[in-house]
Amino acid sequence: PRQFFVGGNFKMYVQHPPATPRYLNGLPFHNGSPLDLSTQDRTIDQNYRNGVAESITNIVKNLNAAKLDPNTEVVISPPTLYLTLTRSLADPKIGVAAQNVFDKPNGAFTGEISVEQLKDTKIDWVVIGHSERRVILKETDEFIARKVKSAIEGGLSVIFCIGETLEEREGGKTIEVVTRQLNAAAKELSKEQWAKVVIAYEPVWAIGTGKVATTEQAQEVHAAIREWLGKTIDAQAQDNVRIIYGGSVSEKNCRELATQPDVDGFLVGGASLKPAFVDIINARI
Ligand code: 13P
Repeated sequence: PRQFFVGGNFKMYVQHPPATPRYLNGLPFHNGSPLDLSTQDRTIDQNYRNGVAESITNIVKNLNAAKLDPNTEVVISPPTLYLTLTRSLADPKIGVAAQNVFDKPNGAFTGEISVEQLKDTKIDWVVIGHSERRVILKETDEFIARKVKSAIEGGLSVIFCIGETLEEREGGKTIEVVTRQLNAAAKELSKEQWAKVVIAYEPVWAIGTGKVATTEQAQEVHAAIREWLGKTIDAQAQDNVRIIYGGSVSEKNCRELATQPDVDGFLVGGASLKPAFVDIINARI
């Protein structure tokens, strides 16, 4: 059986929120995404500034002190500047992931960070292809696939994110889109290299919206990804590669999602900043 995997993606989230939330189409809106007031996002955003040394230190100390399911692999992913702080504070059994890396091993690339630099600072994981980088930073399937390859060749493990937009889902293109994103990576990776990949299925319409995919929607896409692994890579990848779900995962919905045969864990954004992240890590116990 595949080991359960829960990643915490501590997105930038620095700004002090305005005293009264701004409204867009009648919905409270902050930091570029709608707030789901039912899931305590207000307390995340308004009680303190997230994504600074103090808040990250609190989150890591809370995780270190918590009783975590020993059968869950936990990896947390702070903004780049806090990678070394996080690595030095976190219990060694907790993995630390960068949120990005460059595809070239060395050279003059102002503002970028190399695989070797991550390894040098004891970072063993990297998130690649997050939809915020695909959509906002315009990273292409091919660029992302090259990053996945260089990360693995350089000794990192990769949380490889894929997923469709609302428009693509409504157009019936979900499987086509995730297959295209997967195919780009398959072009670059050897069969054996898939052992270093965790695939994160994150439907863009479910990220930061409070709109979680139903268990059926998640399982359907995860099963299609697993079938793709069997057809395109090999039986070993099909059996062993973990496929985790991301998009408005909370302590309330994680248990039901975790019952699905092809949901091997989660990639958690907003809820990973809250003490309830522990409940998500322990979703299977
Ligand atoms: P939320 O859990 O805040 O929806 O974010 C999901 C995500 O993008 C994790 O990478």
